[in-house]
Amino acid sequence: MTFDSLRSPAIYLRQMLGTVPHEETLQEYETWWEKAGQAISHSIDRAGTPWLRMFDPLGKRVDEILYPPEYWQMLKRGYQAGVIWRAFEERSLLPSYLLGYVTSFYDPGLYCPYTVSLSTAAPLDKYGSENLKARFLPQMLRKDEAAWQGATWMTEIKGGSDLGAAVETVAKPAGDKWLLNGEKYFSSNVGAELAVVAARPEGAPENVRGLALFLLPKYREDGHLNYFIRRIKDKIGTRSVPTGEVELKNSEAYLLGKPEWGIYLILEVLNLSRVANSIASVALAQRAMSDALNYAEGRTAFGKPVIEHPLLRKQFEDRFAALQAAFALGWESVQLLNEVWRETPPYSDRYHLFRLVAHFAKYWTAEFAAQTSKWAMEVYGGIGTLAEYHVERWLREAMILQIWEGTPHRQILDGLEVMQRKAAHRLLFQHLAPMADSQRLQEMTRQVEKHLVLSAEAKEAQAEKLFQDLAQFTASALLRKMQK
Ligand SMILES: Cc1cc2nc3c(=O)[nH]c(=O)nc-3n(C[C@H](O)[C@H](O)[C@H](O)COP(=O)(O)OP(=O)(O)OC[C@H]3O[C@@H](n4cnc5c(N)ncnc54)[C@H](O)[C@@H]3O)c2cc1C
Repeated sequence: MTFDSLRSPAIYLRQMLGTVPHEETLQEYETWWEKAGQAISHSIDRAGTPWLRMFDPLGKRVDEILYPPEYWQMLKRGYQAGVIWRAFEERSLLPSYLLGYVTSFYDPGLYCPYTVSLSTAAPLDKYGSENLKARFLPQMLRKDEAAWQGATWMTEIKGGSDLGAAVETVAKPAGDKWLLNGEKYFSSNVGAELAVVAARPEGAPENVRGLALFLLPKYREDGHLNYFIRRIKDKIGTRSVPTGEVELKNSEAYLLGKPEWGIYLILEVLNLSRVANSIASVALAQRAMSDALNYAEGRTAFGKPVIEHPLLRKQFEDRFAALQAAFALGWESVQLLNEVWRETPPYSDRYHLFRLVAHFAKYWTAEFAAQTSKWAMEVYGGIGTLAEYHVERWLREAMILQIWEGTPHRQILDGLEVMQRKAAHRLLFQHLAPMADSQRLQEMTRQVEKHLVLSAEAKEAQAEKLFQDLAQFTASALLRKMQK
């Protein structure tokens, strides 16, 4: 495999995976991005925060987000290509994540609307009543121009990591629906036709077990707005998705699943988006490397293109190998999720294995994306810092990929929890045994078992090193399997 594969996401996918479902669709989609999409995407990024029109001229609350028309064209292209509908028609997540990879090579922020739409349609399909599904699901799976979008709103002003303590939105039963009151502080894809929202049914415990998941339409049954956008956030990156603050005022909502399953359903929503985040991070890293490669081949210093200098060449080689390992890890999280995403509680061991791999993938790939985009800026030298050449954009985008869907701390601590409570490390070692170096496998087994008997304080304090070693070991073993 040569550096040239860096220049095209579709080619890179083929080289890494061998057979790629819907390869022609991916290529067409990439061609569209080359010809039209990336110019739109760059101008949306440069334009900054979109405007919010809160009232119509007669004073009626409308809460419309004002992007230029080309934005909607760019957004709809992915929906039409099948980033949502294929998952339900084909009962497979692979096409969706492959399209997400190509999207993120050009615009990692735009992959957010697709991801949160998938993370809305999936629990609606699994846990919604027949009535609810008949009312909303066909709209979300349309293949025409009318993209119905979803969103996933959990975080409130008091924090996103400790949802059990921070969610203050209350749900009151009202006939066949519920009325929600509260505020969501980070609400991406704000303006969506539907959202899944974490709220606490009145009287439920004041901890994470007291949360339930609700489906919230944009409009009430009487046609009035059902949620209100207080403002749109001015963000450093991911500007292709509007992130707002949302007010819920007696907002009509529908319970998904059993109330006591709330936290499991919230985690299922996060599973889909953490895997998407991993795919987006690898694609972003590929893009940053591709830009760095183009520049390093053209820029001359000390009598030859900078790529030909041994130090820079070696950096490219090492990072190219690291990209493949990150890809193998991210792709394994896709494949395992594809096996378990239809499960409902209580879950199988395969699900717990998936969760551990997904925590590694979210953590490792996002870190790799941030480091690689920083390095790509350095390869550009001074002009890397200039907005007009776009390479600085990848670092701004990467910084958000590290934080949303759970910070690195959250991934480490949740990974530790699934090892402690479900012995997921043993499932992992069994899974990797056929492809891993056996001596290294034994060393890792000993390292984890030793860690898990430390005091509670030491277990958390020393978890990062263990997590890094495990993620790297897992990625290397998976790459070995992929290369066979
Ligand atoms: C652009 C953007 C869009 C977003 N969109 C959405 C959205 O659509 N829906 C949604 O629900 N959320 C969204 N979020 C919120 C995101 O999920 C949270 O920012 C994230 O989960 C972290 O929560 P927090 O920002 O409240 O940080 P906090 O939870 O307040 O944490 C602050 C710091 O403390 C660390 N920390 C917390 N607990 C521990 C611990 N036990 N041990 C060690 N360190 C700890 C955290 O890792 C972090 O570094 C979005 C965020 C951004 C930036």
